[in-house]
Amino acid sequence: MAAAPRIAKRLAAWWEANARDLPWRFGRATPWGVLVSEVMSQQTQMSRVVPYWQAWMELWPDASALAGASTAEVITMWGRLGYPRRALRLQECAQAVSERYADELPRTYERLVALPGIGDYTASAVMSFAYGKRVAVIDTNIRRVLSRVFLGKESMGGAASAAERALANTVLPQDPSASVMWNQAVMELGAVVCAAKKPLCERCPIAGECLFLESGLPGLGEKRTRPRQRFQGTDRQVRGIVLNALRGLSSEHASSQPRTTAAASRAHAAAPRSLPREQVESLWKDHVQLDSCIASLDEDGLIEILPDGSLRLPR
Ligand code: SF4
Repeated sequence: MAAAPRIAKRLAAWWEANARDLPWRFGRATPWGVLVSEVMSQQTQMSRVVPYWQAWMELWPDASALAGASTAEVITMWGRLGYPRRALRLQECAQAVSERYADELPRTYERLVALPGIGDYTASAVMSFAYGKRVAVIDTNIRRVLSRVFLGKESMGGAASAAERALANTVLPQDPSASVMWNQAVMELGAVVCAAKKPLCERCPIAGECLFLESGLPGLGEKRTRPRQRFQGTDRQVRGIVLNALRGLSSEHASSQPRTTAAASRAHAAAPRSLPREQVESLWKDHVQLDSCIASLDEDGLIEILPDGSLRLPR
């Protein structure tokens, strides 16, 4: 690991010149805004998250604003970010921050990780990116880059191992502000240069220090995890179709009303319109799969099934 300080220097220079100008970076967002960006970016590319994050933060700039929103509007605003249970967990988190901490996001890892829906990654990211603390942030991109550069092999996916955590802590710069830059730069390198399948080694600022490149990229792209499930025809697709139909009703309804303030928009969302059963059935041919997906959305608290079989977003 003797190369770590040299690598940190090169990465810092690369970060200064190449970091994407995302609106929650460079101290422009509150700790709550940073947390929202991290939750939205899980399983969704950061560049796709930007317009959703901007609209969300404009409507609900802090935890207490989100805590008071209707479930229907939270699901509608989540739009096509995917995995919509994240939106409901984020609202539960907002309610906890608003009630337990008077709208101030906690400043310790232990308190952050105890909030609903906040795991090790998000708590570490907030400690580092929002509070500038020396904490190793460990996500898929960081694990891939560190394993390649320092061990000369692919990270195997699955849960982070103790050895991967130890490596991340060992190479993390001691100085807190340098550690923040390190976390951001390694993550960014993994997102835009050191990609999983086709790393752009010829453009990489640390190519001269990378053991993986030196060894000829052995087993490039190898993973222990299952290959990604195709999307077409899956329950995920059907759930998305149902939710989109309900969101469409909700936004049609809202746009037909004057929306001057966040409070007004919440009031409109408090009475979501319902989708009649015949229209629900036209959404997907396989009605057995459709009904099972509707039941799972209902169990997740993302929709409500009315006695006549019509559906609506929760109030
Ligand atoms: S040299 Fe290639 S494999 Fe090594 S860190 Fe850079 S992009 Fe990744």
